[in-house]
Amino acid sequence: MSRVFNFSAGPAAIPLEVLEEAQASLPDWSGAGMSVMEMSHRSKAFTAVAEAAESDLRELMNIPDSYAVLFLQGGATQQFALVPMNLASADQSVDYLITGSWSKKAQKTAAAMRGVNVVADAANLSYADVPAQGSWDCDPQAAYFHYAANETIGGVEIHEPPNMGAVPLVTDMSSTILSRPIDVSRFGLIYAGAQKNVGPAGLTVLIVRRDLLQDPAPQLPPILSYAAHAEAGSMLNTPPTFAWYMAGLVFAWLKRQGGLEAIGEMNSRKSQKLYSAVDESDFYSNPVARPYRSWMNVPFTLARPELDGEFLAQAEQQGLTNLRGHRSVGGMRASIYNAVPEEAVDALLAFMAEFERRHG
Ligand SMILES: *Cc1c(COP(=O)(O)O)cnc(C)c1O
Repeated sequence: MSRVFNFSAGPAAIPLEVLEEAQASLPDWSGAGMSVMEMSHRSKAFTAVAEAAESDLRELMNIPDSYAVLFLQGGATQQFALVPMNLASADQSVDYLITGSWSKKAQKTAAAMRGVNVVADAANLSYADVPAQGSWDCDPQAAYFHYAANETIGGVEIHEPPNMGAVPLVTDMSSTILSRPIDVSRFGLIYAGAQKNVGPAGLTVLIVRRDLLQDPAPQLPPILSYAAHAEAGSMLNTPPTFAWYMAGLVFAWLKRQGGLEAIGEMNSRKSQKLYSAVDESDFYSNPVARPYRSWMNVPFTLARPELDGEFLAQAEQQGLTNLRGHRSVGGMRASIYNAVPEEAVDALLAFMAEFERRHG
């Protein structure tokens, strides 16, 4: 077996230990005589899997009891639509901060259903910086304030949640959830597609303050209603059972790594190493303003873009894969989620230094 160092932005690396655990349990999970994939979501066995995953996530993130945790389908993209439907009535306005392509997509989706006030758009900063909060045009009556904690494509991360007073904070944490400790009580709602830092695609994790679970639109079908999903313990219909199980294995793995404090220290170290190398070189560069540089997605460009293809091909030969930047921005991007070990970053740094020596 040979595993590569996988810098994919998503679906992304999953810890080898977790894959091996899942592999070993595939034909016969815990004496059930079947895999988790093959059992009823309402069985005792699966209920135990589901409850353990939720309780480990609550412990890792220190989620207060006043918050519901939902395990849904549809990805973060579906939440772009469900958030306005569930948290704002038709006559309420909602605030959006635009810091890159994901928050822009969220805003566009919401604008088709509700009155959207864009508090600021970082387009004029080329999405490489975030306008100062003092310049935001916020609506104190907004049903919520939405932002993307980490823009996966641009590599722009808002490290501290903004203080919006009584307006509930709603955030897309798809590419930064579980990467460090956060204070959940600062948020009204957190959502994250699983395929970056949680597990396989197909699962979406939602953490929502229970007092916000009042259906503001009386006609909302249950399948689109957070309140209905919470009421049913995320089992309104068949949940993505195997992805939920895998997420549970990842949560247990994170606990074994020392929880989010330890993981956060490692992630900070991994990203600092990479940014320092890029900053110290005249060959590589990263455009993002320092206070907003992402710990999870590190885009960088080569001084001679005509070498991009060669860089990627040689990296691939050394087992450093999925470094191509998003098609909308080009260049390179190293996604260094929790499951990407520090030795992967070290190997990438050694390769980058050698490539620069030969071509810089
Ligand atoms: C990947 C990603 C999405 C899209 O997730 P889907 O599961 O494909 O809908 C949305 N927001 C952010 C920040 C992402 O990283």
